[in-house]
Amino acid sequence: RKLVGKLTTGCEEFDEMMGGGIESQSITEMYGEFGCGKTQVAHQLAVNVQLPPEQGGLGGSVVIIDTENTFRPERITQMVNGLSEKHGVEYDPEEFLKNIHVARAYNSNHQILLVDSASELANELKDSEMPVRLLIVDSLTAHFRAEYIGRGTLADRQQKLNKHLHGIQRFGDLFNSCVVVTNQVMSKPDAFFGDPTKPIGGHILGHTATFRLYIRKSKGDKRIVKLVDSPNLPDGEAIMSITTDGLGD
Ligand code: ATP
Ligand code: MG
Repeated sequence: RKLVGKLTTGCEEFDEMMGGGIESQSITEMYGEFGCGKTQVAHQLAVNVQLPPEQGGLGGSVVIIDTENTFRPERITQMVNGLSEKHGVEYDPEEFLKNIHVARAYNSNHQILLVDSASELANELKDSEMPVRLLIVDSLTAHFRAEYIGRGTLADRQQKLNKHLHGIQRFGDLFNSCVVVTNQVMSKPDAFFGDPTKPIGGHILGHTATFRLYIRKSKGDKRIVKLVDSPNLPDGEAIMSITTDGLGD
């Protein structure tokens, strides 16, 4: 087993709550309502992973499996410019964009297959200057939710989701990579699913995701991130902000 890496979020409280940052070789699940900031955190991590360890990064590149077409290069540019200001260095956004490998997933089967493509790429980059140290699946559950509607198909859905989760866990282990997945939850009950206020895939995800983060909106640009049921860390809450410059305290 390789030494576990810690990836900074850019928010001190958040990092502290996580025992230093997002851990490699583990799945971290971010769940919360639409607009709470899951995709924003994903973008920020895609930037931060490229920083050297002295700056809280893992000196690596990232693969994003984008299932909702929400990756925005312009947002990366804003965040890199935010970092330049924070560190007093002139980072080149284009250099950061080069190390972000985005793959669109058109349906759940395609999404599962893309983990294999991600592994191939990670193998190719293994001994390069920018090995893949972060895999993002945003959203983990949207396609599954859309394709498996109704109670009859629930078992099938869980089985496939479970297989997918094993695949991404393997990726994390194999490449000493962080794995971050997003999962939208609704605040109000919905007719289709048993308890939609719980994340879809709740049970299986509950056991597989090592770190579960519940994100909710607070005042203005503030967000509350809650660490839920971690095996080795106390439950806690952190306040982060999301501004044009990216995530902050
Ligand atoms: P969903 O479940 O629909 O995917 P999400 O949790 O991924 O939602 P995000 O898209 O990450 O939500 O968050 C959107 C919010 O992030 C916006 O409402 C805004 O508050 C903030 N945001 C997005 N872009 C910027 C920006 N350039 N500057 C400041 N804040 C921004
Ligand atoms: Mg999103």
